Amino acid sequence: MSRNAAGFTLIELLVVIAIIAILAAVLFPVLIIAREAGRATSCASNMGELARAALMYSDAHDGRLPPYDYFVGAGQANRRMWYYCIYPYLKTNKTLVCPSLKFNADAETPTAGKPPPYNRIAGIGVSWPHVFWDSGAGMNNPNPPGLILSSVRRATKVMMLTDSYYFDTALGCNVGFPLCYCPGCYPGGTGYDGRYNNVADRHNGQANVAFLDGHAKCFRRSKIVYPFNKLEEAPLSDIWGHFSL
Ligand SMILES: [Zn+2]
Ligand SMILES: [Zn+2]
Repeated sequence: MSRNAAGFTLIELLVVIAIIAILAAVLFPVLIIAREAGRATSCASNMGELARAALMYSDAHDGRLPPYDYFVGAGQANRRMWYYCIYPYLKTNKTLVCPSLKFNADAETPTAGKPPPYNRIAGIGVSWPHVFWDSGAGMNNPNPPGLILSSVRRATKVMMLTDSYYFDTALGCNVGFPLCYCPGCYPGGTGYDGRYNNVADRHNGQANVAFLDGHAKCFRRSKIVYPFNKLEEAPLSDIWGHFSL
Protein backbone atom coordinates (compact mmCIF):
# COMPACT_ATOMS: atom_id res chain seq x y z
CA MET A 1 0.00 0.00 0.00
CA SER A 2 1.52 3.34 -0.99
CA ARG A 3 1.42 6.29 1.36
CA ASN A 4 -0.47 9.37 0.26
CA ALA A 5 2.37 11.90 -0.14
CA ALA A 6 0.04 14.92 -0.25
CA GLY A 7 -1.77 14.31 3.07
CA PHE A 8 -1.12 13.55 6.75
CA THR A 9 -1.81 10.30 8.48
CA LEU A 10 -3.87 10.47 11.63
CA ILE A 11 -0.75 9.71 13.68
CA GLU A 12 1.14 12.62 12.10
CA LEU A 13 -1.77 14.95 12.77
CA LEU A 14 -1.94 13.85 16.41
CA VAL A 15 1.81 14.38 16.79
CA VAL A 16 1.50 17.92 15.41
CA ILE A 17 -1.41 18.68 17.74
CA ALA A 18 0.53 17.29 20.69
CA ILE A 19 3.56 19.45 19.86
CA ILE A 20 1.38 22.56 19.59
CA ALA A 21 -0.25 21.72 22.93
CA ILE A 22 3.14 21.29 24.61
CA LEU A 23 4.44 24.55 23.14
CA ALA A 24 1.31 26.38 24.31
CA ALA A 25 1.67 24.92 27.79
CA VAL A 26 5.28 26.04 27.94
CA LEU A 27 4.72 29.51 26.49
CA PHE A 28 1.53 30.42 28.33
CA PRO A 29 3.14 31.02 31.76
CA VAL A 30 5.96 32.91 30.05
CA LEU A 31 3.42 35.20 28.39
CA ILE A 32 1.59 35.74 31.69
CA ILE A 33 4.86 36.71 33.38
CA ALA A 34 5.72 39.05 30.50
CA ARG A 35 2.30 40.73 30.69
CA GLU A 36 2.66 41.15 34.45
CA ALA A 37 6.13 42.63 33.95
CA GLY A 38 4.52 45.23 31.67
CA ARG A 39 1.93 46.11 34.31
CA ALA A 40 4.67 46.31 36.96
CA THR A 41 6.53 48.86 34.82
CA SER A 42 3.44 51.01 34.35
CA CYS A 43 2.70 50.76 38.11
CA ALA A 44 6.24 51.94 38.91
CA SER A 45 5.85 54.88 36.58
CA ASN A 46 2.47 55.76 38.16
CA MET A 47 3.96 55.50 41.63
CA GLY A 48 6.86 57.78 40.73
CA GLU A 49 4.33 60.30 39.43
CA LEU A 50 2.35 60.09 42.69
CA ALA A 51 5.50 60.60 44.74
CA ARG A 52 6.50 63.63 42.69
CA ALA A 53 2.96 65.01 43.06
CA ALA A 54 3.35 64.66 46.83
CA LEU A 55 6.64 66.58 46.59
CA MET A 56 4.87 69.32 44.62
CA TYR A 57 2.20 69.45 47.33
CA SER A 58 4.93 69.85 49.95
CA ASP A 59 6.49 72.71 47.97
CA ALA A 60 3.20 74.55 48.27
CA HIS A 61 2.64 73.63 51.97
CA ASP A 62 5.66 74.73 53.99
CA GLY A 63 7.72 71.74 52.89
CA ARG A 64 5.32 69.27 54.51
CA LEU A 65 4.00 66.02 53.05
CA PRO A 66 0.24 65.51 53.23
CA PRO A 67 -1.02 63.72 56.36
CA TYR A 68 -2.55 60.28 55.95
CA ASP A 69 -6.01 61.69 56.62
CA TYR A 70 -7.82 64.70 58.01
CA PHE A 71 -11.39 65.83 58.59
CA VAL A 72 -13.10 68.87 57.14
CA GLY A 73 -16.18 68.29 59.30
CA ALA A 74 -17.77 65.62 61.51
CA GLY A 75 -18.11 62.00 60.35
CA GLN A 76 -16.63 59.73 57.71
CA ALA A 77 -18.25 61.68 54.89
CA ASN A 78 -15.93 64.54 55.79
CA ARG A 79 -12.83 62.41 56.01
CA ARG A 80 -10.17 63.29 53.48
CA MET A 81 -7.20 61.14 52.62
CA TRP A 82 -3.65 61.82 51.48
CA TYR A 83 -4.63 61.43 47.85
CA TYR A 84 -7.07 64.33 48.13
CA CYS A 85 -4.05 66.52 48.83
CA ILE A 86 -1.97 65.38 45.89
CA TYR A 87 -4.89 65.02 43.51
CA PRO A 88 -4.58 68.60 42.13
CA TYR A 89 -1.02 67.77 41.05
CA LEU A 90 -1.98 64.69 39.01
CA LYS A 91 -2.83 64.64 35.33
CA THR A 92 -5.31 61.81 35.86
CA ASN A 93 -6.60 59.83 38.83
CA LYS A 94 -5.87 56.65 36.87
CA THR A 95 -2.38 57.14 38.27
CA LEU A 96 -3.83 56.11 41.64
CA VAL A 97 -4.70 52.63 40.37
CA CYS A 98 -2.24 49.73 40.43
CA PRO A 99 -2.88 48.07 37.05
CA SER A 100 -2.46 44.60 38.59
CA LEU A 101 -5.07 45.00 41.32
CA LYS A 102 -7.78 42.57 40.27
CA PHE A 103 -10.62 44.06 42.25
CA ASN A 104 -11.09 47.64 43.21
CA ALA A 105 -14.68 48.77 43.42
CA ASP A 106 -13.82 52.42 43.80
CA ALA A 107 -10.91 52.59 41.42
CA GLU A 108 -13.03 51.04 38.71
CA THR A 109 -15.16 54.15 38.61
CA PRO A 110 -12.74 57.05 38.91
CA THR A 111 -14.89 59.91 37.75
CA ALA A 112 -13.20 62.78 36.02
CA GLY A 113 -12.41 65.73 38.24
CA LYS A 114 -12.83 63.85 41.52
CA PRO A 115 -10.44 61.82 43.62
CA PRO A 116 -11.61 58.29 44.49
CA PRO A 117 -13.67 57.92 47.68
CA TYR A 118 -12.20 56.59 50.92
CA ASN A 119 -10.85 53.07 51.16
CA ARG A 120 -10.05 50.34 48.67
CA ILE A 121 -8.10 52.99 46.95
CA ALA A 122 -6.05 51.77 44.10
CA GLY A 123 -3.79 49.31 45.84
CA ILE A 124 -1.22 51.97 46.58
CA GLY A 125 -0.45 52.55 50.23
CA VAL A 126 1.55 55.25 51.97
CA SER A 127 4.23 54.23 54.46
CA TRP A 128 2.73 54.37 57.95
CA PRO A 129 3.30 55.71 60.63
CA HIS A 130 6.76 57.31 60.25
CA VAL A 131 6.25 59.00 56.88
CA PHE A 132 2.49 59.59 56.79
CA TRP A 133 0.44 59.99 59.96
CA ASP A 134 -3.04 61.07 61.10
CA SER A 135 -3.52 64.78 61.30
CA GLY A 136 -4.50 64.28 64.96
CA ALA A 137 -5.25 67.53 66.76
CA GLY A 138 -5.13 69.47 63.52
CA MET A 139 -8.07 67.55 62.10
CA ASN A 140 -10.18 70.50 61.11
CA ASN A 141 -7.23 72.42 59.81
CA PRO A 142 -7.60 72.93 56.05
CA ASN A 143 -3.81 72.67 55.82
CA PRO A 144 -3.21 69.71 58.12
CA PRO A 145 0.36 69.06 59.22
CA GLY A 146 2.50 66.30 57.76
CA LEU A 147 6.14 65.25 57.77
CA ILE A 148 8.60 68.09 57.15
CA LEU A 149 10.69 66.86 54.24
CA SER A 150 13.72 68.99 54.99
CA SER A 151 14.06 67.08 58.29
CA VAL A 152 14.55 63.82 56.36
CA ARG A 153 18.21 62.92 55.80
CA ARG A 154 17.67 59.56 54.10
CA ALA A 155 15.18 60.63 51.41
CA THR A 156 16.66 58.27 48.79
CA LYS A 157 16.35 55.30 51.18
CA VAL A 158 13.00 55.85 52.91
CA MET A 159 9.79 54.64 51.30
CA MET A 160 6.88 56.96 50.61
CA LEU A 161 4.51 54.59 48.73
CA THR A 162 4.24 50.90 47.93
CA ASP A 163 1.81 48.33 46.53
CA SER A 164 -0.78 47.55 49.19
CA TYR A 165 -3.64 45.13 49.79
CA TYR A 166 -5.94 43.81 52.39
CA PHE A 167 -8.14 40.76 52.30
CA ASP A 168 -11.78 41.78 52.31
CA THR A 169 -13.61 38.95 54.03
CA ALA A 170 -17.02 40.13 52.80
CA LEU A 171 -15.86 40.16 49.18
CA GLY A 172 -13.56 37.17 49.58
CA CYS A 173 -10.71 38.77 47.68
CA ASN A 174 -7.84 41.20 47.98
CA VAL A 175 -8.67 44.87 47.62
CA GLY A 176 -6.48 47.93 47.82
CA PHE A 177 -5.69 49.75 51.03
CA PRO A 178 -4.52 53.36 51.48
CA LEU A 179 -1.61 52.60 53.82
CA CYS A 180 1.03 49.98 54.56
CA TYR A 181 2.05 49.27 58.16
CA CYS A 182 5.66 49.46 59.34
CA PRO A 183 6.47 45.87 60.34
CA GLY A 184 8.60 47.24 63.20
CA CYS A 185 5.63 49.01 64.80
CA TYR A 186 3.07 46.40 63.76
CA PRO A 187 4.80 43.02 63.73
CA GLY A 188 1.41 41.27 63.80
CA GLY A 189 1.91 39.09 60.75
CA THR A 190 -1.41 38.71 59.03
CA GLY A 191 -3.50 39.73 62.04
CA TYR A 192 -6.02 42.54 62.22
CA ASP A 193 -7.99 41.72 59.06
CA GLY A 194 -4.75 40.79 57.34
CA ARG A 195 -3.81 44.44 57.19
CA TYR A 196 -0.49 44.25 59.00
CA ASN A 197 2.45 43.55 56.73
CA ASN A 198 0.11 44.36 53.89
CA VAL A 199 2.64 45.06 51.17
CA ALA A 200 1.30 43.34 48.06
CA ASP A 201 3.40 41.13 45.80
CA ARG A 202 1.15 41.39 42.77
CA HIS A 203 3.99 42.01 40.34
CA ASN A 204 5.46 38.52 39.88
CA GLY A 205 6.19 38.34 43.62
CA GLN A 206 7.45 41.90 43.69
CA ALA A 207 6.11 45.25 44.86
CA ASN A 208 6.87 48.72 43.60
CA VAL A 209 8.28 51.29 45.97
CA ALA A 210 8.43 55.06 45.53
CA PHE A 211 10.99 56.80 47.74
CA LEU A 212 10.90 60.20 49.40
CA ASP A 213 13.07 61.69 46.65
CA GLY A 214 10.49 60.67 44.01
CA HIS A 215 12.26 57.71 42.39
CA ALA A 216 10.46 54.37 42.11
CA LYS A 217 11.68 50.79 41.85
CA CYS A 218 10.45 47.19 42.05
CA PHE A 219 11.64 44.94 44.90
CA ARG A 220 10.84 41.46 46.14
CA ARG A 221 8.25 41.76 48.88
CA SER A 222 10.55 39.94 51.31
CA LYS A 223 13.04 42.80 51.00
CA ILE A 224 10.41 45.32 52.13
CA VAL A 225 8.63 43.36 54.87
CA TYR A 226 11.44 41.78 56.83
CA PRO A 227 11.29 40.67 60.47
CA PHE A 228 12.53 43.47 62.65
CA ASN A 229 14.31 41.10 65.01
CA LYS A 230 16.67 40.48 62.11
CA LEU A 231 17.30 44.09 61.33
CA GLU A 232 21.04 43.63 60.88
CA GLU A 233 20.23 41.37 57.93
CA ALA A 234 17.70 43.79 56.44
CA PRO A 235 18.31 43.97 52.71
CA LEU A 236 16.92 47.48 52.38
CA SER A 237 18.23 49.34 55.38
CA ASP A 238 15.33 50.77 57.41
CA ILE A 239 13.16 51.51 54.39
CA TRP A 240 10.23 52.33 56.73
CA GLY A 241 12.19 54.96 58.64
CA HIS A 242 11.46 53.00 61.84
CA PHE A 243 14.78 53.97 63.43
CA SER A 244 15.63 57.14 61.58
CA LEU A 245 14.38 59.24 58.73
ZN1 LIG B 1 1.39 47.88 41.54
ZN1 LIG C 1 7.96 51.55 62.81
